[in-house]
Amino acid sequence: MTASASRASEGMGEHQVTQQAAWTALDEMGDQLADLYRDFHQHPELSLQEHRTAAWVAEFLRPLGYEVTEKVGGTGVVAVLRRGDGPVVMLRADLDALPVQEKTGLAYASTVKGTDINGNDVPVMHACGHDVHITCLLGAAALLAGPAATWSGTLMLVFQPAEELARGAQAMVDDGLFERFANPDVILGQHVAPLPAGVIAYGTGAFMAANDTANVVLYGRGGHGSRPESTIDPVLMAAHVVTRLQGIIPREVPAAEAAVLTVGRLQAGTKDNIIPDQAELGINIRSYSPAVREVVRRAVERVIHAESAASAAPRHPEIEWSCTTPATVNDPAATEVTVAALAEHFGADRVAPMPPVTASEDVGVFGQACGAPTVFWFLGGLHPQEFAAAVADGLQDSLPTNHSPHFAPVIDPTLTVGVKALVVAATAWLGRTQTDATGRPGP
Ligand code: ZN
Ligand code: ZN
Repeated sequence: MTASASRASEGMGEHQVTQQAAWTALDEMGDQLADLYRDFHQHPELSLQEHRTAAWVAEFLRPLGYEVTEKVGGTGVVAVLRRGDGPVVMLRADLDALPVQEKTGLAYASTVKGTDINGNDVPVMHACGHDVHITCLLGAAALLAGPAATWSGTLMLVFQPAEELARGAQAMVDDGLFERFANPDVILGQHVAPLPAGVIAYGTGAFMAANDTANVVLYGRGGHGSRPESTIDPVLMAAHVVTRLQGIIPREVPAAEAAVLTVGRLQAGTKDNIIPDQAELGINIRSYSPAVREVVRRAVERVIHAESAASAAPRHPEIEWSCTTPATVNDPAATEVTVAALAEHFGADRVAPMPPVTASEDVGVFGQACGAPTVFWFLGGLHPQEFAAAVADGLQDSLPTNHSPHFAPVIDPTLTVGVKALVVAATAWLGRTQTDATGRPGP
């Protein structure tokens, strides 16, 4: 260790030496991160079509010394950096955008059009802020690969496709993510959220909901609207199903547990005097515990079959479950380690615990597949003054949130805080080596 590095490290852990050097490198990156972010924002790609984004990610990481593999689970990218003995730390970001027409009015707003998986022409926008996640992980990747980094272990960066379809994480797992690259000791990730920029919020235990969708077809027998006695009316059947489904949560889920059931799609018929042959429903369920999830799913099936039978339907209903993700569960012990490091760096007042949210993520699929604890946090992305003003006026709920065409995270300080959070969290886990701030091995 050099004399100056020795002095610099007196009274602080080696990981702080890494961090000090990283923050200098972050300053030196200047506008590079913001430019990168604006470019990703202007070039959003729909789920499973993240070709340009993945290529850019790979191109950015290769010169840094990462062993980069593309096309993992479709358009996923894995980058590994091995530096001696120590834990394997996985950092995760997601690549995809949404079929949303951007209305932020930003100079770098997206005007991109795309074709969705059903063949529809749609506008495309990074309305969930995954461009923030990509940029922050690339920034952290650069800092952690820098010559001054003193950590030891293996850094595994995972850029997954198709989070919005809740398919990308599973696709990467199925493509041998943990067998081909490494089995992580911890999985870390973040999501930009409608909180003030500069703030980090975290949950412990199951804090993001499991997400289940059921697409249902109810069969009746169509005919003339003036002669319902000659038909089996699927519209009435669907109406009973919708009403009866809303009895499941209050009557079958214990009061101390939580779940949400929404019928977001109900389609039947073409004309007022025609009774149609069938009706379709789209049902979405959010839950936290596997037991409650099972209770609600079973009850949904039971109600649909029972109402169909009650109407003397000529055919059994079809129920197709899709888009399922498990609850995102932050391992309590791993969360404590990570949050302590974040609080030490940012100050405890900027790292806040939060209650569970009903939003869902497929990040939990990774931990479920490899057995590693997951720690996932929310990164504030809204202008702090605008956020404070909205709260003061009681208008917090009217602020643009993820998936809104108006969602526009502020670049500063969202990106630097997101980069730092990943570096701080990763170095809290990675082992330390006898390497000084100049990159030369120490005594
Ligand atoms: Zn989203
Ligand atoms: Zn998202």
